[in-house]
Amino acid sequence: MVLKNKKLKLLLLIGIVGFFATHSLYSVKAKNFTRTQSWSNTHGKNKTVITLKYGGPNHLTPIEATVTKNGKLIHTFKKAKDFSKKNRKDYPVLYEKFSGFKKLAGKVKKALALLKKYDPFGYSIYSKIKDKSSFDGYIQSGNEFINGKIPPLETMDTAVHEISHQLDMENFRSQGNSYYTIKGTFLQVTKISKLPKRSVVYELLSKEDKEDWDLKGKADTYLANVSGTMPFEMLLEELNAYTIGANTVLQLTEGKKSPYEIGTVNPGIIHMMRFTSLYLDNLKAKKLGLYKKMKRNKAYTTVILKLWRQAEKVVNRTCASKKAMFNTPEMDKETLKRTYSDKSINGLKSLFKQETFEVPQKCN
Ligand SMILES: [Zn+2]
Repeated sequence: MVLKNKKLKLLLLIGIVGFFATHSLYSVKAKNFTRTQSWSNTHGKNKTVITLKYGGPNHLTPIEATVTKNGKLIHTFKKAKDFSKKNRKDYPVLYEKFSGFKKLAGKVKKALALLKKYDPFGYSIYSKIKDKSSFDGYIQSGNEFINGKIPPLETMDTAVHEISHQLDMENFRSQGNSYYTIKGTFLQVTKISKLPKRSVVYELLSKEDKEDWDLKGKADTYLANVSGTMPFEMLLEELNAYTIGANTVLQLTEGKKSPYEIGTVNPGIIHMMRFTSLYLDNLKAKKLGLYKKMKRNKAYTTVILKLWRQAEKVVNRTCASKKAMFNTPEMDKETLKRTYSDKSINGLKSLFKQETFEVPQKCN
């Protein structure tokens, strides 16, 4: 027995982190895009690494899984038939992914019922998107249901995060982005030309930022490689999506008679705030002309402010919550403090003379 079911569940939890760390919707546009999810387990002297590659139109279809033990390849699975009876037992989640989730329809129904009841905003996104199959896919590619009954919060978080991107993309205009926000309205920006790509933020990260492993993972996902070449407007897109995902977790855990006892909020919301403030600070310091151009564009800066305030509210709610918390609260508090430090908040602050920017009260 290489992996026990329970252990695999735990590993898949860790895999979710990998899922976030390797996942960026917009890379889909790149040709031949595949997404890789990987998780490892050290048991005594044995180290097992499972790598799962996805492809297909929504990069949700499992293409190939490999299992290595102490660096030696022991299994390659390309379809459900490749699993022996023993393999099915040893890698139940993996097998389920390849065998197409027989109970999927019921699972999606359950996920939607929970959304409708506890997170009407999340549900409104689902009702607005044209292609509903993507939601099913995200529920499918997530972790096993808790006690076979309810989807893990991480899965709900991811699914709502991703369909919020989908809705925004369905409403994308040639002049600029649309952001569907928790108020139930779209905010729209007209692109400012010549703004630096979001990858500029990568070099601005401090030593402390890089020590925050989750932040570092997000930086690798959103600020490096193809993903890094996305414009600043797409960083705001992530800020909005992480806020919406966090809101879903809060709604699901805090709802009356909710089946979720506790919830973990993805600190990506804080990291996107950090990246946004660093970006603006750098713009002010290095490209003053462009910064002034942005500042004069009130329609544009109003959207930044609204997305920022929306994130702050959700972060504050998380810190105040008795049922949900960030998965690395101490580290996240430090990152928040850095985000609001004079060194980093100046660019954002100077865009809005009448506004004050302080660490959300409950997080202090
Ligand atoms: Zn995203």
